[in-house]
Amino acid sequence: MASRIQRPRNRRMLSLTVMASKRISPHFMSITLGGDDVQHLEQAGYDQSGRLFFADPDDDGVFLPSSERWILQLTLQGAKRRPRVRTYSIRRFNPGSASFDIEVSLHETKDSPKAPGTRWALAAEPGVKVAFLDEGHSYAPAPGATWQLLVGDESALPAILAILERSADTLPAEVFLEVPAREDIRRDVTAPPGTTVHWLPRSDPGLKPGNLALQAVKQAHLPNSRCYAWTAGESSLATGVRRHLVAERHIPTSNICFRGYFSHGRASL
Ligand SMILES: Cc1cc2nc3c(=O)[nH]c(=O)nc-3n(C[C@H](O)[C@H](O)[C@H](O)COP(=O)(O)OP(=O)(O)OC[C@H]3O[C@@H](n4cnc5c(N)ncnc54)[C@H](O)[C@@H]3O)c2cc1C
Repeated sequence: MASRIQRPRNRRMLSLTVMASKRISPHFMSITLGGDDVQHLEQAGYDQSGRLFFADPDDDGVFLPSSERWILQLTLQGAKRRPRVRTYSIRRFNPGSASFDIEVSLHETKDSPKAPGTRWALAAEPGVKVAFLDEGHSYAPAPGATWQLLVGDESALPAILAILERSADTLPAEVFLEVPAREDIRRDVTAPPGTTVHWLPRSDPGLKPGNLALQAVKQAHLPNSRCYAWTAGESSLATGVRRHLVAERHIPTSNICFRGYFSHGRASL
């Protein structure tokens, strides 16, 4: 479920290496991916994301795709040789070092004590090989918008921080960001003047991600002027925010971009 994704004009399957990794807070790892292939990654859009192909930490002999026709390549491999595939946003490009950072939210669920993305991020050491395929972007402020509403949970935090950093000064934001815990709140947010970030830490680790942010948006006093809204995260958050903005706040659908980044209780494929 998504709206208006700008797919890259040209893209290549990139063969990359983990250059560095760092725990930013209890539920976030920052991973730097780099290599000569970064030169083939066109920077386009503030919420640019890509598919990351990786092996489970103890798995030797996993095949990493080398072509954009990766589905075909993986079909030809036996099940044991197929890599994991998860989507992550590009948090920032690192000028002059042929690398970029992603930020992986760490989570556990009842059925999946450590999901593949979390396991990989916790074990990602310099030298680990991955493949990465650009999947484009969706953030595109509507012409005439005087402010922006950005809403997300932890899966959308990297994209929202990247959007804020690069937004025009003329586009202040009201931001609703749900995070797993108070310690995950970032103190160093760069944003257009006039921006307010409403941090929403969950009090209970068992709560479904996205509920807090949805309720906060529903109860918020927001400007009446022309708004561009971008929302992403757990599917019910993205669809719920869109439904609320259209039905209760009468924001035209053309000014709203919404994207389900994951579905609660279901592993990504
Ligand atoms: C365009 C796009 C950009 C994205 N950018 C980022 C990003 O920058 N950083 C990031 O961390 N994620 C991002 N995501 C979301 C990420 O791809 C999913 O959360 C993915 O499911 C993570 O894989 P996993 O192996 O951790 O969990 P899975 O194996 O896919 O899921 C296992 C279980 O964990 C639950 N789950 C999955 N993700 C989360 C979560 N974040 N919090 C709590 N429970 C979860 C699932 O519902 C399922 O029950 C993005 C997704 C899209 C589509």
